[in-house]
Amino acid sequence: MSESKPHLNRATIAATLTDYLDQLREEGMDGLPPGERRSAPAPPSIHESRTAPAVAAAPPAREMFSKYPGLEKTDSLESLREFIGDCRRCKLWGLRKNLVFGAGNPNAELMFIGEGPGAEEDARGEPFVGRAGQLLTDIIERGMGMTRAEVYICNVIKCRPPENRNPEPDEVAACEPFMMRQIELVKPRVIVGLGTFAVQAVLKVKTPISKLRGVWHDVRGVRMMPTFHPAYLLRNPGEKRQVWQDVQQVLKELGRPIPGRGGG
Ligand code: URA
Repeated sequence: MSESKPHLNRATIAATLTDYLDQLREEGMDGLPPGERRSAPAPPSIHESRTAPAVAAAPPAREMFSKYPGLEKTDSLESLREFIGDCRRCKLWGLRKNLVFGAGNPNAELMFIGEGPGAEEDARGEPFVGRAGQLLTDIIERGMGMTRAEVYICNVIKCRPPENRNPEPDEVAACEPFMMRQIELVKPRVIVGLGTFAVQAVLKVKTPISKLRGVWHDVRGVRMMPTFHPAYLLRNPGEKRQVWQDVQQVLKELGRPIPGRGGG
């Protein structure tokens, strides 16, 4: 007698695999199994302000900028954008519709750094304008009581990888000096690093985001708070609570009021 097996159609299998790959991508291949992840140390309360011990140092700005002579002389975001030009410094150039440089207040106190443009961002030439971007806007506006125009938003890489795959090391190496220069030019008081990829690329570590988030890190003298990527939150809304804790620390650091839960 044959046992009846649960019927899994292709769509269910594809959705499950996509979720699993998203999770690996978000948590890192060396992430803890979910059971352990739940019991990971609680993030500091908003009254504490922990800074992570120094991690493997990113190359000094000098070294990174020497890759592109003249980069250190750019003295505004406009001149940096001109310097980048019709970029062909990595293989992504031929696939993009638009280079997504960054957007927002050039003198922002608060800067958000994501991974790289998706389809919507590639089409419009602006960072975080798709579904994940709408959630980021909600976090900024309803969660933090700020406006998108007040902050500065950019990505580690400026051109969309095909099929939204992870950026490859040569693509990151080609593009990250521009993100570092954006940090130097905007001079934010605080950076929020969004998701595994962006935070690992900025800090030059392989630690999963679940261990990096909730704790302050130093990026060339600027405090960075890593948190989950909004795209991850769309699939895992239960983790929004953790992001709420992280942004409360950011608001406290900036000396800003913490909006009530209703966003008021
Ligand atoms: N995800 C990112 O990391 N950046 C964007 O600009 C959009 C989605």
